[in-house]
Amino acid sequence: MIVVLRLGHRIDRDKRITTHVALVARAFGADKIFISTNDRKIEKNIQSICKRFGGDFQIETGLDYKKIIKQWNGTIVHLTMYGDELDKSINKIDKNRDLLVIVGAEKVPSQIYDVADFNISVGNQPHSEVAALAIFLDRYTGGKWQEKQFNGKIEILPSNKGKKVVSKDN
Ligand code: SAM
Repeated sequence: MIVVLRLGHRIDRDKRITTHVALVARAFGADKIFISTNDRKIEKNIQSICKRFGGDFQIETGLDYKKIIKQWNGTIVHLTMYGDELDKSINKIDKNRDLLVIVGAEKVPSQIYDVADFNISVGNQPHSEVAALAIFLDRYTGGKWQEKQFNGKIEILPSNKGKKVVSKDN
């Protein structure tokens, strides 16, 4: 199981980027996202996407992140520009264990660096939690996220020109 933990979400400022973190988590192979801040709007938005596009991705908000970390029975990865190189770290992660991937918004509490089994950077330049998560999950799954079947009511068929969409409600 892969779970993403989003820390420091500020409802007004981060609503779009946190939604994108959740969508990337879902599309790139994670099973669940925990968002420490309570935000019913994001929950509903993501649940609505899941209802239409399928899969069994779960979202929970308003959680005590310290408790989640304490109770986590698996590996903890923290994505940070200060971390060790992705290429160096990725093969050290035991794929047979559950994985908690932590991404920040505002400044991440210093304890997170200590509790993480792996502090991993996707390059050492500041960029985005969305980009860092996408690249990390792609490497972690070895690209296998592309094979996942979502079996949604809406299915998009790959096409070089135009939009090919199958709607199973019709
Ligand atoms: N200023 C914050 C701090 O010092 O912790 C970080 C803000 S950054 C916009 C938000 C999140 O993006 C970070 O917490 C981290 O998870 C992710 N991030 C940004 N650049 C990254 C990089 N080069 N490698 C890995 N993660 C990165």
